[in-house]
Amino acid sequence: MTHEIYTGSRLEADLTLAGDVVIVGTGAGGGVCAEILARSGFRVVMVEEGAYWTARDFTLREVPSFARFYFEGGVRQTKDKGIGVMQGRAVGGSTTVNWTSSVRTPSQTLRYWTDTYGLKGFTPEAMAPWFEVMEQRLNVHPWTAHNENNALLARGAATLGWRYEALPRNVKDCPGLGYCGLGCPIDAKQSMLVTTIPTALDHGAVLLTRVRADQVDIRGDRVFGITGVALDDRGVRLTGRRVRIDAPFVIVAGAAINSPALLLRSNAPDPYARLGKRTFLQIHNYSIAIMPELVDAYVGAPQSVHSDQFLWRDGVTGRAGYHIEAVGTQPAGTMNFRKSIGPELAQAASQYRRTHILVSQIRDGFSEASPGGTVTLRSDRRGLLDYPITEYIRDGIRSSYLSMAECQFAAGAATVMPANMDAQPYTTWAEARAAIASLSLRSPNTVVNSTHPLGGCAMGEDPHVSVVNSDGWYHHLRNLAVIDGSTFPTSVGVNPGLSIYALAARQATTLVAALGRTVPEEYRVG
Ligand SMILES: Cc1cc2nc3c(=O)[nH]c(=O)nc-3n(C[C@H](O)[C@H](O)[C@H](O)COP(=O)(O)OP(=O)(O)OC[C@H]3O[C@@H](n4cnc5c(N)ncnc54)[C@H](O)[C@@H]3O)c2cc1C
Repeated sequence: MTHEIYTGSRLEADLTLAGDVVIVGTGAGGGVCAEILARSGFRVVMVEEGAYWTARDFTLREVPSFARFYFEGGVRQTKDKGIGVMQGRAVGGSTTVNWTSSVRTPSQTLRYWTDTYGLKGFTPEAMAPWFEVMEQRLNVHPWTAHNENNALLARGAATLGWRYEALPRNVKDCPGLGYCGLGCPIDAKQSMLVTTIPTALDHGAVLLTRVRADQVDIRGDRVFGITGVALDDRGVRLTGRRVRIDAPFVIVAGAAINSPALLLRSNAPDPYARLGKRTFLQIHNYSIAIMPELVDAYVGAPQSVHSDQFLWRDGVTGRAGYHIEAVGTQPAGTMNFRKSIGPELAQAASQYRRTHILVSQIRDGFSEASPGGTVTLRSDRRGLLDYPITEYIRDGIRSSYLSMAECQFAAGAATVMPANMDAQPYTTWAEARAAIASLSLRSPNTVVNSTHPLGGCAMGEDPHVSVVNSDGWYHHLRNLAVIDGSTFPTSVGVNPGLSIYALAARQATTLVAALGRTVPEEYRVG
């Protein structure tokens, strides 16, 4: 079957198209929506700023891959440059480059959303069938072939009596190349690139790549489609070609930071100034151990064990809780966990094969002390996130440095060093504990980043504190929905991919029913 695909960089004239639904973004939210709507008989037009890279383009070369497949070359930063934010920019969005861990939204999070924001349809019981639907669709299954990097986390946790378990992954026939973050060259990863988007195309959906949705066309309380700008082959410069897509319904699925930015650019009605507010990062903090034996963390599934021992330790609204996983990255990524240069960098590189790295992700947004960050527009009209590191976050960073160091020593580490420029390699747990307790935590000495930006277009039933309702429909516009990770009222507490897939399946099927069509069999729940 011939697919209808337009490449923005090759447009020789402005382009005008029409459809029943325009979807901006083809990641976890947009990809699932595209499949469900296309299979329900809608003419779907997908607009994607990234390019259509496929298996043969995934060379596994680290530096060019970041430049190609990530926003701002993989080095997007918060306003004060204190935090790096990694987001995929490709057909398939972040799912094309993610690490495949597929874990359900914790019931604590779903209950908090229901109780605090009045969300309807998001209790653990109501969401369970949506997780099942997406687990089936994306081949999610437990992964037990742990590489040494993950086995060390399991060993440390077991020694300390912590809770830990194997992470499920959405892969098929995966030999564990270990380079998931650079795209999967053998299509083992069941990302949107190889699942929902090809299916949507098979059902008549249209795909535009290298086109950035610039504005939603809003008149009064209705939207009429979008206007977009074409980008060059590298996705850097505007070519001058413009795109117009007329449609009676628009779904914004550009991810956190980008979705609120699109709506801000479009002057979407926002009477309570909620757009871009409460953007969360699940801030990632790292602890670097040198093991006596080879670890070779870059081979095998990058994340396959996790511990939620500290996630809810002080209650849902108490001190910052965090989730712990292992990190397997290639050399440039690994060397960047501390900003070292010269002899220190050479020393770190010489120990690369024995390096074991843990990451703790702090769940933000569950306490008044954790309001997250705010997206505004930069001078070039793209989104900019201001995320101050507060005392609440600092407390989480310090506690998690302590937990990770304790775990790594319990697993037999020769040295442990937090990813903090003022830290040294510590040789015993007692030494690490004392040093970390008084370590200065400030930007930029503390190396933190995020691959999990969420929020900024929060769901809720009260428009004073939210942007969209429980079904993802914009409070102040009749025919626009936001369906992606930007709609989460807080962070999740665990890797957010499966949460977004399940949310999107719920929202898209609700939309199909509201527009009077029939939902595909596999997506019918209840
Ligand atoms: C390196 C990495 C590893 C990760 N590992 C995991 C993991 O193991 N498990 C897990 O659960 N999660 C993981 N995640 C996170 C997960 O992939 C994301 O949370 C999820 O994909 C976000 O879904 P989304 O629909 O909100 O946005 P995305 O999947 O990021 O998709 C958004 C898409 O919209 C496009 N877009 C944005 N604005 C515009 C515009 N104006 N016009 C046109 N297109 C636009 C973008 O180019 C992008 O392709 C990882 C993320 C990264 C970056």
